[in-house]
Amino acid sequence: MGNQQPAFSFVDEKFADIQMLRYRLNGFEQLSTRQKTLVYCLAEATLYGRDITFDQYGKYNLKIRKTIEAVYRLGKGNDSSEQFLQLSSYLKRIWFSNGIHHHYGCMKFIPSFSPRFLLQYMEKVGEKDLPLEEGQTINQLFQELQPVIFNPEVLPKRVNKEDGVDLVKTSACNFYEQVSQQEVESFYQEKKNGGGKNQPSWGLNSTLVKENGVIQEKTWKADGKYGEAIRKIIFWLNKAAEVAENEQQKKVIAKLVRFYRSGNLEDFDDYSIEWLEDKQSNIDFINGFIEVYGDPLGMKGTWEGIVEYVDVEATKRTKTISDHAQWFEDHSPVDPRFRKKQVKGVSANVICAAMLGGEEYPASAIGINLPNAEWIREQYGSKSVTIGNLTEAYSQAAKGSGMRQEFIDDEQTISMVDEYDHLCDDLHTDLHECLGHGSGQLLPDTDPDALKAYGNTIEEARADLFALYFLADGKMVELGLLPNNEAFHAQYYSYMLNGLMTQLTRISKGHDIEEAHMRNRALIAYWTLQHADGAVRMVKRNGKTFVDIHDYNALRDCFACLLREIQRIKSEGDFDAARQLVETYAVKVDPVLHDEVLQRFGKLNLAPYKGFVNPVLLPVLDERGEIIDVSVDYSEPYDEQMLRYSSQYATL
Ligand code: ZN
Repeated sequence: MGNQQPAFSFVDEKFADIQMLRYRLNGFEQLSTRQKTLVYCLAEATLYGRDITFDQYGKYNLKIRKTIEAVYRLGKGNDSSEQFLQLSSYLKRIWFSNGIHHHYGCMKFIPSFSPRFLLQYMEKVGEKDLPLEEGQTINQLFQELQPVIFNPEVLPKRVNKEDGVDLVKTSACNFYEQVSQQEVESFYQEKKNGGGKNQPSWGLNSTLVKENGVIQEKTWKADGKYGEAIRKIIFWLNKAAEVAENEQQKKVIAKLVRFYRSGNLEDFDDYSIEWLEDKQSNIDFINGFIEVYGDPLGMKGTWEGIVEYVDVEATKRTKTISDHAQWFEDHSPVDPRFRKKQVKGVSANVICAAMLGGEEYPASAIGINLPNAEWIREQYGSKSVTIGNLTEAYSQAAKGSGMRQEFIDDEQTISMVDEYDHLCDDLHTDLHECLGHGSGQLLPDTDPDALKAYGNTIEEARADLFALYFLADGKMVELGLLPNNEAFHAQYYSYMLNGLMTQLTRISKGHDIEEAHMRNRALIAYWTLQHADGAVRMVKRNGKTFVDIHDYNALRDCFACLLREIQRIKSEGDFDAARQLVETYAVKVDPVLHDEVLQRFGKLNLAPYKGFVNPVLLPVLDERGEIIDVSVDYSEPYDEQMLRYSSQYATL
């Protein structure tokens, strides 16, 4: 039929310091109609929480968003003035940050259009399309918002962590009203003193306010604060329960609904425990007040939502690796004394995101490890997953970024890396996580903390080397994990390039390498550069430095050699050798090379932050209104999606 889907593109528009991406719902078509319907209902529940996050991130966020959106709707397509462009960019940033503060740095961003321009437009928009309070005039609304939007000194930071000031009063987030940090702390200390073991996460789901001298919680629940949004969420959770995959999942949803109704934090813990018990469902979701980074005191949960399903292909991969854990251990190049006689692989679950919402949208985490309550983690464990289709989008976006064209100067290597790097990267992660960290053993009287501050770097290097070594093994092809015996070249090349040069883009001028993963990559790359006997070289061409690899098998031998030494250091607890390796290869940066890398990177003009446009899930109905399929559409532009969410999922 003439209904042609345009080619999928991972990269979407760019504005300010942000690059928008899209993620693909791999394998979604293979879900059953019932499962797709479940995803659809949970996705609706995910989108209905959006306004809560805006309000939590700042008292004026919704008002400002609605005002600027009204202006944008009026001017879009008609106004191409510089001021209007600035207003559009400001609105895109507000959408991206769920408010007027930078999503990552938390500082308020100040728009470049004039207050006068805004006021004139607000008058053109007219009263009925502006978020006016009862009896408020347009001019009064403007007066209310002007300092919040334009004055850098008003509400400058969303989450303040500075030492020695009242963090509650100096943070713009909207979890507290008329209370001081001291008052908040004593309010919750009292609750903690009153509780016993296994305490709930006090304060997680409420605004703390002082009214007429009395401090009390306004709880976020169906008949409380944010009730309009929460009742919509409950409606769609109940719809989801009707098509749940199994009894346990039904129970999980019921527990969450119960919590949203009662606002009782013990119900939330109850839900979390049931959620951990659900290990067989293909579809899973997070919906609620989860992470507490948005609160300077780390108590209040910001609303977030995500719907996901198991990535069958990727999970097969981690299972294959994990099933052969003993083979890998027995064939590891380390001294047999340091090998484990019996090794157990960990099978990691890889999932695909199907909808992102609240704090997870548009900027999202690429992994989930929950619940947060420490006592539940201790007694019941935790669920940990990687979101494969988001990492896929990041990796695919890297292809077109110009990074490879700048730092690799032969076409053959670029196309090899383009073709195999994502697959190899995933495999590297699997080998590192499922096997690498679990491999090997300490000698009986070695102190596990013997390497002290060097321990993390050595441990990461050990897991990375294990992965690098086996990526080049014929076993990978035999197990069907790699298509041929040369695909690993892509990983070897990009690993060396990153460790020797490109990871320096993340370090500012004059600084050393500090983070353990970065140190480990530098250690491996610089050690092999020196010991690979010419198999790897750094060469200058036309004034730029490049990495040449002449012999991939020699490089592998070199990785094996370093793995043997690193395992020995770990197993024997050889602190001096660990220090020697790390200090020699992993900490110091060559300032000339660093400068060059920063300059070349700067010219590419890449946005440092990324986030995702959601797909549109469209239910296909039969004549009785029953869902018979759910189709996925990736063509909705960023601004249209945001405007649609603002009207379709408007609750507050
Ligand atoms: Zn690791």
